Amino acid sequence: MIHSDWHIHTTASYDAKLPLPTLIDAAQKQGLRAFGMTDHANYNDRSFLGNIAESQRLYEQYRVPELKFGVEFTPIAKPMYDYIAKHGTREGYVPVPQDKPYDIELALTLDEMKALGMSYSVGAAHWRVDVADARTVDNSAYAQIKEWFRQQMWLACDPRVTILGHPWSCNQTWYDDFSMIPRMMHDELGAALKENRKYIECNAGMLISPKLTDFFKRQYADFLRYMFEKGIPITYGSDCHGPEYPDNRAQCEEYLSYAGFRDGDFSEL
Ligand SMILES: [Zn+2]
Ligand SMILES: [Zn+2]
Repeated sequence: MIHSDWHIHTTASYDAKLPLPTLIDAAQKQGLRAFGMTDHANYNDRSFLGNIAESQRLYEQYRVPELKFGVEFTPIAKPMYDYIAKHGTREGYVPVPQDKPYDIELALTLDEMKALGMSYSVGAAHWRVDVADARTVDNSAYAQIKEWFRQQMWLACDPRVTILGHPWSCNQTWYDDFSMIPRMMHDELGAALKENRKYIECNAGMLISPKLTDFFKRQYADFLRYMFEKGIPITYGSDCHGPEYPDNRAQCEEYLSYAGFRDGDFSEL
């Protein structure tokens, strides 16, 4: 069912340990038709731009035809983005509280992506960027769901984003029962993804993590199927951080077939 992987971190990501030659060797042995490296560009500061330069260097050094060069974006609060653009670093940034959510930016412009030779991106929400400090304000499940929805809607509409990465992931709040997220949000997000011709990601972590229940994994696979049936193409992302590149496809496919997915449903870019 799954023949390609569009979300993989190499040693160029601050939190990953997968050497690119190890990835290439393992992915070829697994018979993947295509696989893409997507190192983190969390901020527009020196360290993250350095990681991206290293990612590009590795790609140029080891490239094979099946390997694609992408990046993983996460929304940045616009005031922080502007501060970094001015000072080159996050050091010394103090968020000024405001009465509405901060606007959002991404670490690279479309022109910078082109200059780096990137052919696509994964855009994903990872943490709240709407408030100065989530620990001091309403941090209820609903406040978090609302913020994830806002970021994901924004990503679905931004021309720099190709794939919406790990939808509704990276937070413990709704991990017990995925139906906590209103269906209306799936419908609105689905409409935006479809209109802007984005892909939605099936992130392996959501279907294989030992921290998640079997019940949740079934709900999540059903959610992916619900979005797919709206006409949104789906891609697979192992989100592998190394040091090895294991093959987790069979475990994911079990949940995916249960939700109605068949061979041919998963897209290549
Ligand atoms: Zn991510
Ligand atoms: Zn990732």
